[in-house]
Amino acid sequence: MTALPTDRGPKALGLVIDLDTCVGCHACAVSCKEWNSGGHAAPLTDLDPYGAHPDGVWLNRVHSFEAGEGANGRTVHFPRSCLHCEDAACVTVCPTGASFKRAEDGIVLVDEDKCIGCKLCSWACPYGAREFDTDAGVMKKCTLCIDRIYNENLEEVDRVPACVAACPTSARHFGDLGDPDSAVSKLVAERGGHDLMPEMGYRPTNKYLPPRPQFTGAAPALALTPDPNLEPEGPFLGWVDRLFSR
Ligand code: SF4
Ligand code: SF4
Ligand code: SF4
Repeated sequence: MTALPTDRGPKALGLVIDLDTCVGCHACAVSCKEWNSGGHAAPLTDLDPYGAHPDGVWLNRVHSFEAGEGANGRTVHFPRSCLHCEDAACVTVCPTGASFKRAEDGIVLVDEDKCIGCKLCSWACPYGAREFDTDAGVMKKCTLCIDRIYNENLEEVDRVPACVAACPTSARHFGDLGDPDSAVSKLVAERGGHDLMPEMGYRPTNKYLPPRPQFTGAAPALALTPDPNLEPEGPFLGWVDRLFSR
């Protein structure tokens, strides 16, 4: 099994995703696929790309749900990628050291040369963020675009994840969530951003921002059956948690 780093620094790079402004356009997913098909994780396998049920390796997926009824109903778009958890069981279950968390910035990665394709990590991840590449026989996942954010061949303005750069509504934000004074940390504090499924104890770095007040009038209808264990996070994100818990 693989140990998490014991010399973790304060830096915790991650994403903040605004569920209020995400319009479900899939620009982030397509941009992620395009960037990673030519970069570090390449090639990202496509299965039946022109058939009735195309699939393959996507490091970022967007799920859309209809929730609630009538005036209380709304469409919810939910982007899903690795949350770069602090206590990542996908790492600790890995028998070969292929899955690891970087001490210097908290990014969770897979060393494909060490991966034996046992899929233990995908069983351990409660967020479904791991993608098994059937062609390569190895596990893949969001790299937080490590080959962009530190890439000195790019203009500084472009050293952000491809999904963040592509989002037309600026629903995706990138930064250091370990720094309380960073723009992303302030955004999380202002908007009440929170962890997905905190009850799992994985302490994800990525945060999700709930809908703004003008939408919270509809939120009780989205709560479906209120879960008393999730009330502190609010009914909307509790509803998202239950989707992942099915
Ligand atoms: Fe691991 Fe899943 Fe957390 Fe990513 S979201 S670090 S794959 S447990
Ligand atoms: Fe580790 Fe690869 Fe097995 Fe995942 S599939 S646990 S990365 S060896
Ligand atoms: Fe994909 Fe990069 Fe965004 Fe991760 S950070 S979802 S690898 S584009």
